[in-house]
Amino acid sequence: MSETIFGKIATGEIPADIVYEDEDVVAFRDVSPQAPTHVLVIPRKPIRTLNDAAPEDTQLLGRLFLAAAKVAAQEGVAEGGYRVVVNCNAAGGQTVFHLHLHLLGGRPLQWPPG
Ligand code: AMP
Repeated sequence: MSETIFGKIATGEIPADIVYEDEDVVAFRDVSPQAPTHVLVIPRKPIRTLNDAAPEDTQLLGRLFLAAAKVAAQEGVAEGGYRVVVNCNAAGGQTVFHLHLHLLGGRPLQWPPG
């Protein structure tokens, strides 16, 4: 049984607007988009936070980033530019405790973020 809503999306227990998936990774549109492209890229494996990633997850972490780049190309934001963000724990703004990359693009993004 998956603990979080993202775990349930990964197993297909609850629906999402999936834009990419493979045996290790699922990417779906954020329900509250902060940019024209706002996609969440998650491992199927339920890792709570980046702090909980272990050495055996090294390849999986790489796959998450490669999937984000693939989705960026698919969404047409790769050349113009985009941002990939990981929020970790409370002060980092994490609200769903299943590791995820935010892929944001389609508008100019400010730095530093809030
Ligand atoms: P974070 O604050 O980094 O943990 O990001 C969690 C993100 O998940 C937020 O941007 C939410 O809008 C998004 N979110 C929450 N529930 C869902 C859902 N069921 N489907 C898609 N996105 C979701």
